[in-house]
Amino acid sequence: MSEDCIFCQIVAGEIPSHTVYEDEDVFAFLDVNPLAPGHTLVIPKGHHERLNDLPDDVADSLYETLHDLIPAVEDAVDAPASNVGFNNGDASGQEVPHVHGHVIPRFEGDGGNPIHAVGGSAPDLDDDELAAIAEDIEADQ
Ligand code: AMP
Ligand code: ZN
Repeated sequence: MSEDCIFCQIVAGEIPSHTVYEDEDVFAFLDVNPLAPGHTLVIPKGHHERLNDLPDDVADSLYETLHDLIPAVEDAVDAPASNVGFNNGDASGQEVPHVHGHVIPRFEGDGGNPIHAVGGSAPDLDDDELAAIAEDIEADQ
């Protein structure tokens, strides 16, 4: 636990939350400032700042929980769809430095945007540049 982390304090029960799921490794609760009814946050119980920092078994548990929770969240608010995503690091807009996945229910005509809206100005990359990036990513695993 990180003493000054608001999500660690929620896991410890020191700050109240509308809890929707809990197991040994994972905790899920409603976002206090929801972008839509049912907006849910799914977090590892341990304090890890970014997805990249998670041990493999915790990453597996986190994904498994997301996988099960998404239909439950959608059903609870009668949503036909949802956006699921992580702000991963400062530059991405992550405000709480404890890994959390957002499940944001979406409705026809709700005025929201697809996940593509999160990017900055789009780069103009040719095929060679795409190939070089793909090669670097493939080599770095
Ligand atoms: P992010 O910008 O990805 O770091 O998102 C942090 C999210 O945490 C925001 O959507 C906040 O509304 C939410 N949040 C902050 N404090 C609380 C809290 N005490 N209970 C529930 N959600 C919270
Ligand atoms: Zn924490």
